[in-house]
Amino acid sequence: MTIAINTAVFLATLAGMEVFAWFAHKYVMHGWGWGWHRSHHEPREGWFEKNDLYAVVFAALAIVLIALGNAGWHPLEWIGAGMTAYGFLYFLAHDGLVHRRWPFRYVPRNGYLKRLYQAHLMHHAVRGKEGCVSFGFLRAPSVEALKKQLRELHDGPLQSAASSAAAKEGGGDPSIDRGT
Ligand SMILES: [Zn+2]
Ligand SMILES: [Zn+2]
Repeated sequence: MTIAINTAVFLATLAGMEVFAWFAHKYVMHGWGWGWHRSHHEPREGWFEKNDLYAVVFAALAIVLIALGNAGWHPLEWIGAGMTAYGFLYFLAHDGLVHRRWPFRYVPRNGYLKRLYQAHLMHHAVRGKEGCVSFGFLRAPSVEALKKQLRELHDGPLQSAASSAAAKEGGGDPSIDRGT
């Protein structure tokens, strides 16, 4: 029974993290936390960006939860494990797949990974803090849905930025500048 509860807590945390990440990205990172997140929307110099501090904070929180759980405050360790799993998936897909912070190139051509990849490029289609779409990550809406949202948010010039990002992605050379 305990295993079932722990598994349920783990999976609920994993799913809940996507909801949490959406809110945090939209209202904190693109709000009062923009000071750290801005670096992620500008070209990166070197290996690290200030935005990585968010990952450090969440990792520290997960470590504290796991330690508390192991000290008897169950099931906090499974909440910490769910956060860690989400962080790992986010790191693989966001930092690796989309932003290529690894030494090889892989562009997904179909299916879920392609949708995820495109949806995050749409987040980077708008320059700066305001008027962005696609704040979630693992739950990736279609490019069409995101373009529609962008059109509703903006009239005019920003649309072309968004469609050129999508076109680049779909075309022969899908390379993007890191963080733009
Ligand atoms: Zn952002
Ligand atoms: Zn990004």
